Amino acid sequence: MLRQLLGLQILGKLEDAGFAEEPQTKPLAKPYMAEKIYARVDGLPSGMKVQVYTTVIGDNENVPVEVRASGKDAIRVCAVYVTKDGETRGLSKETRVNRTGDIEDIVDRMIERMRNAWRTCKTAERCASCAAPKFVTKNNKLCCSEICWKTDEEKRLDNAKFKVNQRKSRYNKYTRR
Ligand SMILES: [Zn+2]
Repeated sequence: MLRQLLGLQILGKLEDAGFAEEPQTKPLAKPYMAEKIYARVDGLPSGMKVQVYTTVIGDNENVPVEVRASGKDAIRVCAVYVTKDGETRGLSKETRVNRTGDIEDIVDRMIERMRNAWRTCKTAERCASCAAPKFVTKNNKLCCSEICWKTDEEKRLDNAKFKVNQRKSRYNKYTRR
């Protein structure tokens, strides 16, 4: 019951704040089991988006709308920029909201994180040569979101390399057992 109440409160607050559910990017066997992601772009500079990974699932048909069962599961809020090539870059580290305490407190903390992410979008440092916002890399450095010093061809090769590495590390995960 509490999980349903919290789920509805989270979605209600997001809708009040002008956020809408993002469509799922790939077809799923059980779409109602997927975490709902909410986002808002209105009022933000072009390409920017505040996203909330709600931990809420459900469609009220197959399963009720509720937060996922694990108490350790946290709501994540991020300020992102979508590049010309459709890559999503984090403008700061995502912030987490632990789902402990009163429902009201949890929702208040989520709103506070959303405000911070909003500010991050508005005040993001810009690249001196192309004016795209800078994002935070894995090594915690600020870097032009559009990687504007590279040609499209170089970026394409980097992407291909990245995908191969991803596949390799996934493969290692399975063979290491
Ligand atoms: Zn640049």
